[in-house]
Amino acid sequence: MNASRPNTLRRLCLAAALAAAAPLSLAQAWPNKALTWIVPFAAGGPTDGMARDIADKVGRQLGQPIVIENVAGAGGTIGATKAARSKPDGYTFLVGHLGYMGAGPSLYKKLAYDPVKDFDAVFRFPDTPLVLLAGKNSKYKTATDLIAFAKANPGTVNFANAGVGSTSHLIAALFASRAGIAVSQVSYKGVAPAVNDLIGGQVDAIFDQSNTALPQVQGGRLNAIALTSLKPMPQQYPGVAPLADQGLPGFEAATWYGLYAPKGTPQDAIQKMHAAYLKALADKAWTDRMAAAGIQLLPEAQVAPAAFAKHTADEVDRWRKVTAEAKIQLN
Ligand code: ASP
Repeated sequence: MNASRPNTLRRLCLAAALAAAAPLSLAQAWPNKALTWIVPFAAGGPTDGMARDIADKVGRQLGQPIVIENVAGAGGTIGATKAARSKPDGYTFLVGHLGYMGAGPSLYKKLAYDPVKDFDAVFRFPDTPLVLLAGKNSKYKTATDLIAFAKANPGTVNFANAGVGSTSHLIAALFASRAGIAVSQVSYKGVAPAVNDLIGGQVDAIFDQSNTALPQVQGGRLNAIALTSLKPMPQQYPGVAPLADQGLPGFEAATWYGLYAPKGTPQDAIQKMHAAYLKALADKAWTDRMAAAGIQLLPEAQVAPAAFAKHTADEVDRWRKVTAEAKIQLN
């Protein structure tokens, strides 16, 4: 009897170990806990809105919640720096856009991260054209009005933006350069606080995304005075002319977004995250809603990690030329 006790004990221990090991191996399958997506702008703005919508759908596919962490400031570079320095364990990601992940290296002499070398591309979000907004009682009813006034009064038109190097800042600078006008830029920590000041009349205009601007325009709080899409958007913005038809032929701009992982993140997590997004896109009611808001869905081939990595590298090159040509400098 005495001799059998250690045996029984050993067997019990073994059984306990096996029982513990079984759920452990299952638990190890990615993802086994909540994930974090860093959004480097204030809550309530376009980056935040799009990220939350996509994170909700992707999280459902993965069976784990995706928590949005807003790390705002310096045109997105503070959040991107935090993401680049995060542990590449498959649980922290960055929502990136054309500013800090495209134009960043040509705008900042000392950027703490390299959009290409320090990140793995995961998938690309849909694109969104922009809308030039002015206050409800503004004297600018069209971009043509604004350009004419700015030509006669250089530097007096104030453009709000989401921070130096943000989409709203870059597109306003491109617009001013193409229109041959000098405008003043006022920086905020995101489009949400900037739009509040536009509604309050403290600033004159902003380039906001078509989808987030829509409720403000439909709610009668702001006027849309131009579009950055080449073609009109009669469904969303009836009667609003593209900049291309307001004296800036060929002018076209859209924001691109996508998800990045700190370099070294397990490929398994990247592939599964991408696959979950593709599955989420099968929800036609969702994609129809996005299209109705003026969001441009992309073909699957452009969404994939390798294609998005190439797009990022191409954009870094393209913005070097654009910022030099349009003389966009940080001051
Ligand atoms: N994406 C916006 C911009 O760069 C910022 C924001 O989402 O608030 O203008």
